[in-house]
Order: sequence, then C-alpha cells, then structure tokens
Amino acid sequence: MTTPLPDFTSPTLFPIFTTCPLTEDPPPPHPDPYYLLGTITENMTLTPVTPTFICKDRDGHAFAVTLKLTSRQSGEGSAPASGDGNFYESPRGRKAFGKGKCVVVPMARRKGAREENAELGRKEKKGFIEGLWRDGSESGSDGEGIFVLPTGLMNLIEIGERRRKEEGKKSCQGCGKSEEEVEGMVRCKGCESVWYCGKACQVLGWSKKGHKCECKVLRAVKDIFL
Ligand SMILES: [Zn+2]
Ligand SMILES: [Zn+2]
Repeated sequence: MTTPLPDFTSPTLFPIFTTCPLTEDPPPPHPDPYYLLGTITENMTLTPVTPTFICKDRDGHAFAVTLKLTSRQSGEGSAPASGDGNFYESPRGRKAFGKGKCVVVPMARRKGAREENAELGRKEKKGFIEGLWRDGSESGSDGEGIFVLPTGLMNLIEIGERRRKEEGKKSCQGCGKSEEEVEGMVRCKGCESVWYCGKACQVLGWSKKGHKCECKVLRAVKDIFL
C-alpha cells in the first residue's frame, strides 16, 4: 500500500504566499500542517551569511526567502562556503538552491509585512520568509525549516496530478499495459509509486519517459509530506 500524494494545489495544505499568516499573528492552538511552495527564480544574496532568493508561488506571486544558516552551514570558524563567502554562489548553495527548484516552507509565516497607508504615503509590504535550511544532516528534525525539492513547482503539481490519477491502478509506466494484460509486474524500488511489466519497460520509463527525474522528486516528496 502506498499513501496517495497530496494535492499540491490545495489552498489549505499549500497556501500561496499572500495567504500565509504573519510572524506576529497569534498561532492557533492546534495548527494543521501547511506548506508554502515556490520555484526559485532569482538570487538576491547581498551578504554571505544571509542567502536570499526570489521564489514564485503557483499564482505567480514573487516572494523572498532568506536563510538563517547555522554556523556549520555557513562555514563560520573554518573556511567559508566559497571563496567570497557567498553561500548561494558556492557549489553547495548552488546545488541545493539552484534556479528552477522548489522551496518547501512548513508552517510558513510572513515577516516584516506592512499594511498600506495612503496618508503616510507608505506602500504595502507583503513581507518575506525567513527560516533555517533543512539540509538533511540535522538529527531530531522537528519538521521546521526550509527544504528544497529537485524540480520546479509547476512540474511538481503535474507529477502529483499524474500520480494521483493513477493511484491504485497497476499499469506499466513503459507500455501502459494493465496487470490483467501482463504478468509479474514489478514496482520501482526507488519511489515505490510506479510499476513496470519488465526490464525493457523499466529502462524505457526511466530514460525516455522521464521517470529518472520523477522518481527523485517522488522520493523527496515522500520524505517531507508522507
Ligand atoms: Zn511494459
Ligand atoms: Zn521510481
């Protein structure tokens, strides 16, 4: 049995940026988990210790995410993460927070938001997101902090829809045949979400039909959401 993937367009489980609560809002007594998702579009890092990048939520709203690096992540006390100390431009930062990937911010709250005030000539500010980076090396992770998925948000939504549509159906990812048509279907060991009728179809599905990328995303998604 596999748990179905969540609906990545659900407004309650995956709110868009502007509907996320503010840091100063009182937290509800029993908050339901939710996640802010956004594709990384731009690097805005100005100082080495606070990597900042612009992300786009599924409605196309841009928002900024600032990372609070732990001393181990920023390389404090030893060598900096890159020659100029810019985490985002370092090989590690680029690999983790590359353009086109999707950030996942559990229980995201907007910091520094301000209402519009015409009299004072103040413009509305939607705020930004600040958080620790969950790079997978922490022990005792409590689900807080920012994750990164190895694909963009729109592709993630597509994968989710496709997988949920085929949930419970045991058909070959390569040739499309159902379990009534072929015998001995095997499941992909990586994601345990898709089936193959044999080796040839597995190879076809992996390379030609894009399961190589999908499999990686599915594994990361399961680690975070399921
Ligand atoms: Zn097949
Ligand atoms: Zn797989």
